[in-house]
Amino acid sequence: MIELKSVTKLYGDFPAVKDLDLQVRDGEILGIIGHNGAGKTTTLKMMMGLVTPTSGTIEVMGKDVEKDGTYVKRFIGYLPEESPLYENMTVREYLMFFSELYKMPKVRARGRIDELLDSLNLTEKDKLTGELSKGMKRKVAIARALLHEPPLLILDEPNAGLDPLTSFFIIDYLKTLNNHGTTIVLSAHNLFHVEYICGRVAIMKNGGLLLCDTMESIRKSLGSREYEIVFKANADLDYEIEGDNYVFRTADVGQIALVLRSISENDWALVDLSVRQSALEDMYVGLMGDLTNP
Ligand code: ATP
Repeated sequence: MIELKSVTKLYGDFPAVKDLDLQVRDGEILGIIGHNGAGKTTTLKMMMGLVTPTSGTIEVMGKDVEKDGTYVKRFIGYLPEESPLYENMTVREYLMFFSELYKMPKVRARGRIDELLDSLNLTEKDKLTGELSKGMKRKVAIARALLHEPPLLILDEPNAGLDPLTSFFIIDYLKTLNNHGTTIVLSAHNLFHVEYICGRVAIMKNGGLLLCDTMESIRKSLGSREYEIVFKANADLDYEIEGDNYVFRTADVGQIALVLRSISENDWALVDLSVRQSALEDMYVGLMGDLTNP
């Protein structure tokens, strides 16, 4: 669906991205991880045609993203790292405004907006966007990216700065979209999220690609590791108790997802979610070495 061949981006003399070969395959979720400044945002912006590569080619759905940018962008939902909203518009007005840019018929747009806001659990439809919390704003930005039902999503840190439950909710929502056929490429810092939803992972360092492999083979080569959830619940549950908290440990990301969903649905309190050396984390730390000196 996306193909980058020998892509380099120089800012002055500085190579933000170096000789990058990368594919995003139809129907997959590809996660791009790497240290701050590794080149993730620059790569995603080039895929979207917002930054022009210094050399190399980028094709999206078989079209050159530079030459056929207008055509290609209709099929992409793009979420930038930072997404300022028009703060004096209500959520509904803001999304209606973008539906007009996409030339969506009004009736269809209204239905789509309601459907999206309901799926994202955003009830404040008539509140000014300027009065929303950070998490709600991010959800509005995500709704904007999804408005025209694009088959391809390019998401730059979709859950940056969100609390763990909202973050997980969004990640889970992306997984559902992917199950219905949406291809997704995203950058992320949270390795649990990447391990939970991504079929393949690309690790970038200093503008180059260190590794691109399936989660399955990363797990196979390093073995499975354990996650731990610590939470409070006003119910009698069959989990280990430590102090005032329930503790649940497993190597199965799907099980972790189920417990997180219960915590969210029952309004319990998530105290901590930690990845106790996930396979991905092992590989990441092994490849990146000293992260303070990338
Ligand atoms: P983060 O995880 O912090 O978002 P990133 O992996 O997304 O980082 P990029 O934003 O792609 O990294 O930046 C890659 C490098 O290119 C950084 O060293 C950054 O300072 C540099 N860079 C990015 N945009 C520009 C620009 N417009 N002008 C000059 N240098 C830039």
